[in-house]
Amino acid sequence: MEQRIIHACGHEQAHHLTGFDSQQERKAKWLKTTTCRDCFVAEKRAEEVAAAASSSAAVSHLVLPPLTGTDRQISWASTIRTKRLAALTNSNSDADWYACLQVTDAKWWIDRRDLTDIDLMAAAAQASEVQSATAVTASITDMHRTA
Ligand SMILES: [Zn+2]
Repeated sequence: MEQRIIHACGHEQAHHLTGFDSQQERKAKWLKTTTCRDCFVAEKRAEEVAAAASSSAAVSHLVLPPLTGTDRQISWASTIRTKRLAALTNSNSDADWYACLQVTDAKWWIDRRDLTDIDLMAAAAQASEVQSATAVTASITDMHRTA
């Protein structure tokens, strides 16, 4: 049944409670200790904004190469990159996260956004190896062409 709950933030919100009476009562009691949906969303957004601001400050000394991809990918990936680099540079030596700085493929950052710091650094190291291997292959091909 639907019940109007006054939340901890003072806002009233309708909730559809299910289950036995005792379960509904318990749920209603718990809901009263939480903030309403709107306040929850607003709080989350404020936290994200604050976190993004502190991440930007943490990487402001780095020269971040421009990302490549679609506008949407670039905007999403740059948020991810800033956040990850802020965490990486905070707790690792330069050599460990430097490869991450070299990855400019927006999709790479998006696809790997859930990796742990260690895995992300390993993936970046691998990506840069692939990149230099491709460069070597290209120069060898060039050599053959000129020969
Ligand atoms: Zn509220």
